[in-house]
Amino acid sequence: MIERTVYECEHCHKKRLVSKYAMRDHEKECFYNPDSKSCIMCENFIQDNSDIERGCLMKQDLRFKLKTNCLYWKQKEINEEEF
Ligand SMILES: [Zn+2]
Repeated sequence: MIERTVYECEHCHKKRLVSKYAMRDHEKECFYNPDSKSCIMCENFIQDNSDIERGCLMKQDLRFKLKTNCLYWKQKEINEEEF
């Protein structure tokens, strides 16, 4: 039996990789990393509970794909529980 170290993404806590370097690359582009300026962490992102309908207030297009480094990206407001 071989024991191995696995690296977990500190932003999404879902992704796990054996390679530290691959994880470093993932974290840079992770949708849950605010620095990646991606839709999920954006104020303009709209998502209903079904998880299917989503869109961007800036684009008014519900068929769009999640992206990173968006020009319209705006930091989502912090959860009320943290106040
Ligand atoms: Zn991640």
